[in-house]
Parts: sequence; structure tokens; C-alpha cells
Amino acid sequence: IRGFEGRKVAVFGLGRTGLTAARALVAGGAQVALWDDGEKGRAEAQAEGLALTDLNTADWSDFAALMLSPGVPLTHPKPHWTVDRAKASGVEILGDIELFARTLALVPEHKRPKVAAITGTNGKSTTTALLGHVCRMAGRDTRIGGNIGFGVLGLPDMHGGAVYVLELSSYQLDLTSSLKPDAAVLLNISPDHLDRHGGMEGYVNSKKRILLNQVKGDTAVIGVDDEWCQRICTEITAANRRTIRPISASKSMGRGVYALQGVLYDATGERVMTVADLLRARSLPGRHNWQNAAAAYAAARALGIPAEEAAEGLMTFPGLAHRMETVGQIGRVRFINDSKATNADAARQAMSSYPNFYWIGGGQPKAGGIEALADLFPRINKAYLIGEGADEFGRTLEGKASYVKTGTLEAATAAAYADAAASGEDAVVLLSPACASFDQFSDFEQRGDAFRAAVEGLVRPAARGA
Ligand code: ADP
Repeated sequence: IRGFEGRKVAVFGLGRTGLTAARALVAGGAQVALWDDGEKGRAEAQAEGLALTDLNTADWSDFAALMLSPGVPLTHPKPHWTVDRAKASGVEILGDIELFARTLALVPEHKRPKVAAITGTNGKSTTTALLGHVCRMAGRDTRIGGNIGFGVLGLPDMHGGAVYVLELSSYQLDLTSSLKPDAAVLLNISPDHLDRHGGMEGYVNSKKRILLNQVKGDTAVIGVDDEWCQRICTEITAANRRTIRPISASKSMGRGVYALQGVLYDATGERVMTVADLLRARSLPGRHNWQNAAAAYAAARALGIPAEEAAEGLMTFPGLAHRMETVGQIGRVRFINDSKATNADAARQAMSSYPNFYWIGGGQPKAGGIEALADLFPRINKAYLIGEGADEFGRTLEGKASYVKTGTLEAATAAAYADAAASGEDAVVLLSPACASFDQFSDFEQRGDAFRAAVEGLVRPAARGA
């Protein structure tokens, strides 16, 4: 990090992002003051020899900036909220992406790596990983980070010609004002996390910030399949001279990139070009992934990657763990891990990608449960319900799909496999729980890993001790 040499910077929140930022600030010669209201983050900082300062009682007069971690809310009903106090003293509030952007802006233009930034309500991680893969396949030195994998400040410095592919949440965007992506991707917007942004307008405004500093020569890739993004696309078309690439997974788009029945088209040139048959891609199942593919392709083109190479990258993408990831095949039974589907909306994507399936669902239910998925219940051969949500989901499925409560994920996997194999047909066992995982696991990753382990256990039962 450059620009904070000898200045005092506070870091509030000591999770992965906060600690990474603290290290980078120290390396850049800043004086850091660290705090986390939780014991765990403080202990980790101390283990590294980083000094703690209780920011709740700090005197803000000599601080240059306050860096907030994603876990720390910008506003809080608590009186004398630390962030409000810092702000009242004129301290600048920023996030790690902002520190990254400012450092990058100091690099002379011909030596500066390209930046692709991706946001949206759904599909951020997939599109980020996909674009990263496409860039790598095309031989570009590529680093992926932000809301996925490494915090940006943990990424190494890179040369001109290299690419940073960054996933940005709306919270990160709220704390970022200097980022100027060469390719900015806004995938989609649907109501989510509204509580944190004070309603839909706040949420949409956060997302729009990804386009904030773009000028002529930069490219904005915008999904136009929802009304909010459609409106933003129209707005910026009128506003400035950057290149705009509308993308769609449902309709043809002049000057854009779109997928129809899984075939991806590029209409950005003189005539419409067929890019790829996504139905034959290694790992882009479902219409939602067509949107992700269209976005990654358009962004890759904006970064100067030739069309054929970009298409090749789409076809060979291995997929992201825990998102409709095939974790095993035993005989005619395929096991799909969609542990990332922590709500009904996300589970819908997976469920509508298979004509029928043995469904493993449940966990810690969200408001509304699975009522909204009723149109997909006929596709459920049988449901295996786990965790706290089992009773509620059982009541919702009553009379519409057969189900059994199995308690654990391991028992659910074994029972689903037994039934699927007995059917004698090609079958899918789908873990797409439509629930948070916290009742039985530490996070969705651990839940997905447990599923994979359970599937592997079916192939070599009790191999231990042999
Ligand atoms: P994010 O990082 O935005 O949370 P992910 O790429 O991790 O999104 O995908 C999470 C889940 O959301 C996937 O399992 C899938 O079911 C669904 N999903 C992925 N891409 C899209 C999309 N473009 N539109 C709607 N839903 C999507």
C-alpha cells in the first residue's frame, strides 16, 4: 500500500480482510491501530505481533483513515458508534478495495495491470472464477481476489499486461470511491441484503458504484435481464463515452453478447458471431450460468483476449466448488454439491437444471422456507431432510413430494444413494439445501466438503484399518 507512509490508519474488524490489510499497511510504512470487538480477531492479531488499540474509545484527531472490514456495519443503532465518531472527527472511512485502487493508481499507466471487477446479486463468484480461468487459458498472468479467495491486499504486485479479476460485494463497493475497472461487470440485481443498505434504492446505488470512474476506453458489461440493471444500462448509455456491452441469457441484444438455448452469440462486431455451445461446456449447467458466461466472455474481450481463446476458456472451465459441482458418480447415480445454495432462490437454479432428482435439503431455514419452490416439487423423486429445517420442510412438502427426515447429511446421502441406485435409471442426488448451514456446520464450504466425503465413503466403505 502506498500513500499512507508515516500516517496513522485504524483497522476495525480483524477477520481475513482486516488482518491482510493490516499487514499491507505495516509493509507500506503506515502506523496501524487495530481493533475487533470479538476475542478471536484480537487474539490472531496479537499472535502476529500486531498491536491493539480499543477504537471504541480512541481519540480520532490524529488518524488519517479508518479501514472497515466487511464484517463491520457502516451504520449501527448503537449510540456513539465507533464509525460515526471517526466520521464526525473528519476521518476518512474506506475499505480494502479502496486502498488497493489508490495504490494501483500510483503505478504509471504503461506498467499498470488491467482490472476486471465483478458485482451483482448472484453469480459473482462463478463469473469471477470463470473470467479468471479464461484469462489464464489465454496466457495472461492473472490473480483472482476480493470477496472470493484472497483479500486484494494479499495479492502480489503485477506488471502491465497482467490482470486482476476482482469480485466485489455491495458492501465493499460502498467503501470504494477510486476504483477504475478496465472492465466492470454488473450481472444482475434482485432484492437481497436490503436490510444493510436501507432498501432497494441504497442497494442499487451501491452496485452502480462499480461504474463510477469509468471513462472512454473502459468497458461496462451489464446484464439486462432484470429491470434494475436494464435501467442502469439505459442511464449510462446516455451519460458517457465508455463502451457498453449489454448481456442477456434470454433475448438477442444488438451490440451485446447473449445466449439463446445455451448457444452464446457475440453481436458486438459487424455481424453476429456464434461463440460457443454452452450446453457442451464442461461446467456451466443452467440458464443462470449462461448469463455468467456471457459476462465473462464480454469482459475477456474488453481485456483484449481474442474471441476464440475466450470461447475455449468457457468450454474448459472446471467449475467452482459447492456450486452445482459434480462430486462423484457411482454407476448411474451422479452426485451434485450445491451447498452454496443457502436460500430458496439459489436452490431454484439447481433444481430447475434437472428434470428430476433425489433432493437433500434443510439446515437452518430462511424466512419463507421453500414455499416459493412449490412449482419444482414435482421434480423431487424423494426428499431427504436434514438439520433444524427438517420439520418445517416436511410440512411444506406434505402431500406434494415424498420425504424422509434423516437428521445428518451423511445419513441423507446414504439413503438418497440407495433409492437412486435402486431406481435402475440415470439419477441425480442433489444437495441444494435452501438453508444456511450453521446448525450443523461452520459454513457452506464445510457442508459441501462433508457431502463430498460422504459420497466418497459410499465407494470405499470402512476402508480404514484395512
Ligand atoms: P455469489 O458469489 O454472487 O453469491 P455464486 O457464483 O457463488 O454467486 O453462485 C451462488 C448460487 O447462485 C449458485 O449456486 C447458483 O445457484 C446461483 N447463481 C449463480 N449464478 C447466477 C446468476 N447469474 N443468476 C442467478 N443465480 C445465479
